[in-house]
Amino acid sequence: MSINANIDWSKLGFTYTKTDLRYVSKWKDGKWDDGKLVEDNNITISEASTALHYGQQCFEGLKAYRTRSGKIQLFRPDENAKRIRKSCKRILMPEIPIEKFVDACVQVVKANESFVPPYGTGATLYLRPYVIGIGDNLGVRSAPEFLFSIFCCPVGPYFKGGMAPVNFMIAEEFDRAAPHGTGAAKVGGNYAASLLAHTNAVEKGFADCIYLDPATHTKIEEVGAANFFGITNDNVFVTPKSPSILPSITKYSLMHIAKEYLKLEVQERDVPINNLSDFKEAGACGTAAVITPIGGIAYNNELHVFHSETEVGPVIKKLYDTLYGIQFGEVEAPEGWLVEVK
Ligand SMILES: *Cc1c(COP(=O)(O)O)cnc(C)c1O
Repeated sequence: MSINANIDWSKLGFTYTKTDLRYVSKWKDGKWDDGKLVEDNNITISEASTALHYGQQCFEGLKAYRTRSGKIQLFRPDENAKRIRKSCKRILMPEIPIEKFVDACVQVVKANESFVPPYGTGATLYLRPYVIGIGDNLGVRSAPEFLFSIFCCPVGPYFKGGMAPVNFMIAEEFDRAAPHGTGAAKVGGNYAASLLAHTNAVEKGFADCIYLDPATHTKIEEVGAANFFGITNDNVFVTPKSPSILPSITKYSLMHIAKEYLKLEVQERDVPINNLSDFKEAGACGTAAVITPIGGIAYNNELHVFHSETEVGPVIKKLYDTLYGIQFGEVEAPEGWLVEVK
């Protein structure tokens, strides 16, 4: 299949584009059906679906990358499979077998192959898997039926003019998750809870806000949709450890790269908000941007600047280049990280 000639790959942002086919599978009477590819990008569900009233839904996000030789590959889809199983379990939805999830991702990419951007544009095919509770139901309980679907859209590189630092502010008045809530599950409710704080941060001129631990408000947790990490003055890669953080696959990949490729010490531990001067570089990481370098963090009416508000620090640059290189097939990947779509 050739590459779609009607798309200006350099103009793509992170926006919805209808592609050819999406995957749908239903769970009913205790089991998932085989699933199929469909053309319709609308779903029709009962007005009484739990996804609409009680937030019984979760999702994932991952990308397919086209390499220099034209090959298409998915980055660690088995990790997204494991994570969506945990999200489903947390909110009482049936778990999807790992093979079913990865196979569905491969089917969707194959069926929309012409939308996988050409190598060199930095653009990728973003996959959005989700599970929702459906069927007639009124009381607060788990749904009688479920829908698992995956659609995909071509998306542009996060940084159009190359990676650049941005400033964040600490959300002092808001939490995205409760101490024993659903922070570690990729559920829409966490996002609904973050919309107002995000909008306030943007209105004040920041890229987004960073949340503190909901119990004590003394330790950094994460950004609304990305995990936090820092490089200490003595070159240790540090990232917060907390049960209410969403475990980012990009973060765990960067931890591996820091240790095995850059030979840095790696620590997952508390990051007190009052110890920002321990870090010479800081970043936010997630599938969308890989790494967003953090210029500074505003807290208590002060802006703490790390490496620079305009330039990317050298360690973050190396981490970014290595992971980006692995995803696009330019740097040798650790065993099992890439799944070829063929
Ligand atoms: C999805 C998500 C991330 C990033 O996870 P990746 O697997 O790296 O894409 C970070 N924080 C939150 C709250 C998320 O929902």
